[in-house]
Amino acid sequence: MSEQRIRVAVVGAAGRMGREVLRALGCDPGFEVVAAIDRTEVGSQTQDLAGPLAPNLSVEDSLEAALDRTKPSVIVEFSHHSVALPHAKACVERGVSFVFGMTGLSEAGLVEIGELCVQHGTPGMYVPNFAIGAVLMMHFAELAAKWLPDAEVIEFHHDRKEDAPSGTAMLTADKISRARTTDPTPLPKPLIKADGARGGSVGAVPVHSVRLPGLLAHQEVIFGGPGETLTIRHDSLDRASFMQGVKVCAKTVRSLHGLTVGLDKILF
Ligand code: NAD
Repeated sequence: MSEQRIRVAVVGAAGRMGREVLRALGCDPGFEVVAAIDRTEVGSQTQDLAGPLAPNLSVEDSLEAALDRTKPSVIVEFSHHSVALPHAKACVERGVSFVFGMTGLSEAGLVEIGELCVQHGTPGMYVPNFAIGAVLMMHFAELAAKWLPDAEVIEFHHDRKEDAPSGTAMLTADKISRARTTDPTPLPKPLIKADGARGGSVGAVPVHSVRLPGLLAHQEVIFGGPGETLTIRHDSLDRASFMQGVKVCAKTVRSLHGLTVGLDKILF
């Protein structure tokens, strides 16, 4: 007997990531996309926006109305961090799980969302990076930091990205900082000739953010030790790189508890 398809509503459906999700889930027999929600392109047909691989749905603007009418088991959302809390609330109150991919959620916001999940007994996920390679990059960086405490992170993104440093860069620096077993080598106080030249410091790891048209999402983690360097680099070359992770999360989220942050929690 074939497994039941997972009913999914896509939020931020008219955006670049939303359209990619419509195509990826729309042609996967494991999923049934039942609603497309966005505050722009309302009334447009999703196939006109995302092509023939997408399901044919009208874009609608009310998440609550779409949830009540189509009764999905999961929403996949790539919209804006400012609506994470009300959208999480709308979902868990109806027993609908969420997979949030919009970046920039604050620690305090995540705590509040986590409490909502526990209170309503409905699991959710927040995943700052769905690319499997990026998750492995962070894992390898964590391994390296144990032996090479001196590290810097350089992240490169397209010029329309709102937040800096990226969620992935913040998380990578935090993981390096926690995995270190010795303090980084103290540096002489530099003469700063241009503000920000040494990047921002996250857990005593300098993080540099590059924003240029033509880029998508890339990151290098550079470790330095006596007489050697180690560079770990990941490149997302196409938004398709995020879709395997999105599917794994949409399939797994309902078996989790509370709020799960990061794809690594279900991969390793
Ligand atoms: P985008 O601007 O192309 O799309 C965002 C869409 O969300 C737009 O269509 C917008 O109208 C819609 N939107 C905004 N507020 C909304 C609301 N209140 N209700 C419904 N729809 C709303 O941006 P994008 O490139 O698709 O990226 C979206 C988010 O996903 C960003 O936060 C980005 O950083 C993040 N992102 C995450 C990953 C990851 O792996 N987690 C990967 C790429 C992008």
